[in-house]
Amino acid sequence: MSCIFCKIAAHEIKSSGVYETENVVAFDDVSPKAPVHVIVIPKKHAEKEVELKGTLFEIFDVIEEVAIKKGLAEKGYRIVMNRGKEAGQTVDHLHFHVLGGRALSWPPG
Ligand code: AMP
Ligand code: ZN
Repeated sequence: MSCIFCKIAAHEIKSSGVYETENVVAFDDVSPKAPVHVIVIPKKHAEKEVELKGTLFEIFDVIEEVAIKKGLAEKGYRIVMNRGKEAGQTVDHLHFHVLGGRALSWPPG
């Protein structure tokens, strides 16, 4: 298994372990782009949302729990999914970024 996020999901690589459910893991990004930057992934490798089925709902539940746990629920936060080269995607295991803790510019650069 060469996918870095599969290794994190299997606890083969240590992560900060922000939150975990049966099918989803959330951990702090190693290279944070905001004071709070959490990555939320399905444990099972997937590249497209259509592969996720019900786990997509579980992912959004986890995102909400992460926002509460990190103190972002009231202030607001951004959920980002990069898809493909021009969006800057570097890891092909489907993942959502949860960003917050400062005012975020819009539109993105
Ligand atoms: P993307 O550019 O959307 O593919 O995002 C991949 C993200 O994963 C980047 O923000 C990286 O900093 C982050 N990342 C890569 N490896 C790790 C790791 N071992 N632990 C935590 N975050 C990671
Ligand atoms: Zn993977």
